[in-house]
Amino acid sequence: MAQEFPTQAQVVIVGGGIIGCSVAYHLTKLGWNDVVLLEQGQLSGGTTWHAAGLVGQLRSHANMTGLIKYSTKLYSELESETGLATGWKNCGSLSVARTQDRMTVLKRTAASARAQGVAIEVISPREAQDLWPVMAIDDLVGAVWLPGDGKANPTDLTQSLAKGARNRGARVIERVRVTGISTKNGVVTGVETDRGAIAAEIVVNCAGQWARKVGQMCGVTVPLHSAEHMYIVTGRIEGVHPDLPVMRDPDGYIYFKEEVGGLVMGGFEPEAKPWGMVGIPDDFEFALLPDDWDQFEILMHNALQRVPQLATSEVKKFYNGPESFTPDNNFILGEAPELKNFFVGAGFNSMGIASAGGAGRALAEWIVNRSPTMDLWPVDIRRFAGFNNNPRWLHDRVKETLGLHYAMPWPNRELETARPFRRSPLYDRLAARGACFGSKMGWERANWFAVGGERPVAEYAFGRQNWHEAVKREMKATREAVGIFDQTSFAKLLVQGRDAAAALNRICAADIDVNIGRSVYTGLLNERGGYESDLTVMRLAVDRFLLITGSAQAVHDADWIQKNIPPDAHVTLTDVTSAYAVLALMGPKSRDILSKLTSADISNEGFPFATIREIDIGYATAYANRMTYVGELGWELIVPTEFTVGVYEALHEIGGKFGLTDCGYYALEALRLEKGYRAWSRELTPDINPCEAGLAFAVAADKVGGFIGRDAYLAVKAKGAPARRIVQFTVDDPLPVLWGGELILRDGRPVGEVRSAAYGHSLGRSVALALIEHSAGVDKSFVESGRFEVELAGERFAVTAHLAAAYDTKAFRVRA
Ligand SMILES: Cc1cc2nc3c(=O)[nH]c(=O)nc-3n(C[C@H](O)[C@H](O)[C@H](O)COP(=O)(O)OP(=O)(O)OC[C@H]3O[C@@H](n4cnc5c(N)ncnc54)[C@H](O)[C@@H]3O)c2cc1C
Repeated sequence: MAQEFPTQAQVVIVGGGIIGCSVAYHLTKLGWNDVVLLEQGQLSGGTTWHAAGLVGQLRSHANMTGLIKYSTKLYSELESETGLATGWKNCGSLSVARTQDRMTVLKRTAASARAQGVAIEVISPREAQDLWPVMAIDDLVGAVWLPGDGKANPTDLTQSLAKGARNRGARVIERVRVTGISTKNGVVTGVETDRGAIAAEIVVNCAGQWARKVGQMCGVTVPLHSAEHMYIVTGRIEGVHPDLPVMRDPDGYIYFKEEVGGLVMGGFEPEAKPWGMVGIPDDFEFALLPDDWDQFEILMHNALQRVPQLATSEVKKFYNGPESFTPDNNFILGEAPELKNFFVGAGFNSMGIASAGGAGRALAEWIVNRSPTMDLWPVDIRRFAGFNNNPRWLHDRVKETLGLHYAMPWPNRELETARPFRRSPLYDRLAARGACFGSKMGWERANWFAVGGERPVAEYAFGRQNWHEAVKREMKATREAVGIFDQTSFAKLLVQGRDAAAALNRICAADIDVNIGRSVYTGLLNERGGYESDLTVMRLAVDRFLLITGSAQAVHDADWIQKNIPPDAHVTLTDVTSAYAVLALMGPKSRDILSKLTSADISNEGFPFATIREIDIGYATAYANRMTYVGELGWELIVPTEFTVGVYEALHEIGGKFGLTDCGYYALEALRLEKGYRAWSRELTPDINPCEAGLAFAVAADKVGGFIGRDAYLAVKAKGAPARRIVQFTVDDPLPVLWGGELILRDGRPVGEVRSAAYGHSLGRSVALALIEHSAGVDKSFVESGRFEVELAGERFAVTAHLAAAYDTKAFRVRA
């Protein structure tokens, strides 16, 4: 007998692709059984059914690799649970290199795979051919072999996940279209469908390439755009057998897998073809787009080179299916900051099959626990803001993101499309002074400045890049004279109200209930004691605080703070990022310049460290905050947007004779690393606590009223030396360049991974912050007694560990 259509459920999931089914599976596994999944067509009929089904584990972020490692485990076990096959085959995968630079990438990949516990081997072209006999190897430099990778059948997998969910009580209903999302007072209350309304506590948007539209039904930003994505299936090819590994040839933008004795060959061309500009048809079910051999030509050309037999094999089928891509090639996961209890799992950038197991589990845990259970920042929905949903911008950006899968992952590679997007008032002036811009959270930011005959264009390499000398100049100016950094992209949040001090003091680990005019550096911790953010809180009045946080963190931090303000508290939070520019005037001569432009007392006594004042600067009135991210005397000038150009010009008018130099973000990064300052999302993450970060000094453990994460923090502190710790390293040899992600070894054994690195010109060597692990505790003797090395694309270099910042250890300073 047909079941009645439900009118209420604890959770409604919109979309029956692999992601929606995985979320339903994992929710029920966590004991949440009152789950209804609604699919407008048939399960897997959107994008999932025509995926190639490759499952490659390795990602640049350890937790992302962890998600896919879990997927491979789940896919290998699911059939025994549900009785439905998944087509999972642990055939392993190969990636080949056509160039030395690509080989460097593969070797770096191998080192980080080892750091992340993924089995990998660097092999020769001949060994690769033994594993994959149908390929030509005359142009290859080498390869890597990942025996744990595999492939699955996307439709079978989806059905198997759905069956697992059904077995535990979930209702999976096909042919129901969600037409609206109901909300009350900023909280989701259910869905409207073409078969009636369903009241729900939680709604999960897993609508694939329709997810942007479903988000728009309730004011939630889901920035994705479809692009055409293609592969062919050939007839039988001699030498192709069912156990053939997956093979990727990223320099040719192509991949291969075996199917019925033939090959599936597809890829990621450098310039993709966006699709669906006028909306995705609701009835686009088990549907494909027309063959486009012109768009496919570059892939076909490269594939013929790799597998010459393709020239004579029959093409049985051309699949051209649309898939949704996001502005940064990572998927979108989490609770929407705009609407409570509305979750999103979408935008899978052609990684949805590989990611579904882990992403479905992570989202289910987020729903059940009310917060993520691990650091998911690379895929966190709060890394985007409303402006990222602009359709023309998305259209232009996804042309590039599809190709990023196989593009050379150069250190500091910048995306080029859909820029400039957000610009500081100084953009044109900085450009005129030779700025080479990068982009962060959409902001154009000067990375470095070209002078004389230099061209402000980065030339990528794994060794020193062409801006090496520029950064040396800028660091020298900051350390010895004075530099000016346009840090307008900083996110700024104004927290005001009668209860602002009390509410913020519970959210911040440091004591921020300080005198008016004080600035406090603080972490915001979660219940696990991990960093949700680190920022500066400036007390402007009894009931008014200005918070300055990282450029990419505006939405995230605002959401975290809002969620932790008690509902009855008299507190408002406003994002004032666009209202102010920030000019950091840093260096021993910063006071000399500023004193010429202001009547304020900026002496050390009159304007001590960690204080903020409103002062006059030229014709402008602005805040000056005495803080530093570079370790020198300096002020962050927080200037109303319309006065920024005036302040900048005034500083330059005076600054020439003091050696004032425009400096960019590469210098900033190197300066902060020399001082050992931690950065959020690199060294500080939701999984790292203050003891591991070495920042216990910035925690007010005994403050009245406590703070979020205090119990967890005290528990780790009580245990003594943490099992993981951020440690600064310098490379003994002055030549090698580190970029982050490199493996650290102690007495020949892997102990950790570099989180951030730069060339420290004041030290005359590369400097890095790395996370080191040792189950018995990373204490002073562990750090000081070991022989440490870093592995750089297969080569090892001696490094020195520092428990106090290398820059502060005078012996280490070489005045460049
Ligand atoms: C050619 C090609 C090859 C690929 N190869 C691979 C690969 O090798 N490995 C890999 O990992 N990934 C691959 N992918 C990507 C993978 O297919 C996707 O990432 C994945 O299928 C996305 O799953 P999903 O559940 O998010 O989306 P979908 O499968 O599209 O599911 C979303 C569902 O939501 C439903 N829906 C939408 N709106 C509503 C509504 N209002 N009401 C009810 N239901 C609604 C839709 O009908 C749809 O079924 C490939 C993709 C393509 C196009």
